[in-house]
Amino acid sequence: MSTSFKSEIVAPAEEMIPLCVPSIGGNAWDYVKECLDTGWVSSVGSYVDRFEKMVAARLGAAYAVATVNGTSALHAALIVSGVRAGDEVLVSTLTFIATANAARYVGARAVPIDAEARYWQIDPEQADRFCRTQCEQSGDHLVNRRTGRPVTAIIPAHILGHPVDMDALCEVAARYRLKVIEDAAEGLGALYKGRSVGNVAPIGCLSFNGNKLITTGGGGMIVTNDPAWAKRARYLTTQAKDDPLEYVHGELGYNYRLTNLQAALGCSQMEQLDEHIEAKKSIAASYNRLLADIPGITLMPQADFADSASWLYTILIDENQFGLSARQVLAALDARRIQTRPLWQPMHLSPVHAAEHNPACPVADRLYRQGLSLPCSVGMTEAQLHRVSDALHSLNAKRTCTSDAA
Ligand SMILES: *Cc1c(COP(=O)(O)O)cnc(C)c1O
Repeated sequence: MSTSFKSEIVAPAEEMIPLCVPSIGGNAWDYVKECLDTGWVSSVGSYVDRFEKMVAARLGAAYAVATVNGTSALHAALIVSGVRAGDEVLVSTLTFIATANAARYVGARAVPIDAEARYWQIDPEQADRFCRTQCEQSGDHLVNRRTGRPVTAIIPAHILGHPVDMDALCEVAARYRLKVIEDAAEGLGALYKGRSVGNVAPIGCLSFNGNKLITTGGGGMIVTNDPAWAKRARYLTTQAKDDPLEYVHGELGYNYRLTNLQAALGCSQMEQLDEHIEAKKSIAASYNRLLADIPGITLMPQADFADSASWLYTILIDENQFGLSARQVLAALDARRIQTRPLWQPMHLSPVHAAEHNPACPVADRLYRQGLSLPCSVGMTEAQLHRVSDALHSLNAKRTCTSDAA
């Protein structure tokens, strides 16, 4: 797909600018071909080990366990952390649904926590407030007074490539003895106070889905420094097999192991990780420059504590100041063959999760209404960036002309 960027045949005005497509390069073809040539295509093979070592080393973690996708990594990580059926787990309300779904897979319930307005991440103060005002300590556990269920964990998702304020969040978690499972699916390459996102909490998860910073087609990873947890994650994700010859399985396991074929692609992508991060940062810097003076547009923020990977460049559009809502801008850009998208429906509004917990989350509501993610593929060109920027400038100018003409 990325080759279409380089096509000179299509007139620039007709060329579709996609939101975020993979960039495959480097040794991808050699590594994948080697799997095909040797027959090592499935869930055993040297590339799986190599890919795990590369990711662990990059994050400064002792162990990494590859999985078929990020969602299964989260599922297994929750089991490994000891989250159980009947528990409640705090999640960012503003996240991709996989974060909350993982809680449900283990029979737990997701409790949506509002975002903070500055960096759009889960708000540690709101998590604290929920625990302080809605829960009480009962023996070893924090218990939700309304539901009677134990509240045992929190899953901070570093959304859009920007880190959550992990010190503040971990302080709240420690106060109420909540386990912390990092959803770093969108955070690969981001640093929190110099530490790699995904390896700040005792266990973290990554995704290598097609639109993520690096891809294996589909894939994920569990990252931890605890040898027992790593061993258990590997066990659970390979059908909990106790005997290499006899089919003896000690408990309910899962077929969540990444294939060698995918890991081969992953190794080549890891070799290009720095290039991808550089490209994302440069796209963010360009947008920050090009869109700086448009009234009603809030640029993607970056905290002092953060070195963001700028995975998915997102702006907020204030309808009153800009003249069009984010949804209207989406439609107008679509007509110009520029693909954008809104943020995810927050979990407190999701038909899947809201029935259990539907707290007021005014910040996430506003971000959901105003947010618009702009094209930011690694392979994006200067010309494409300018086309997006020019389109936004002209949409704004039109509105300003019609309303201020007198
Ligand atoms: C992509 C993503 C995941 C996992 O997605 P998979 O498609 O299963 O790899 C989990 N959480 C968040 C926040 C994500 O963006």
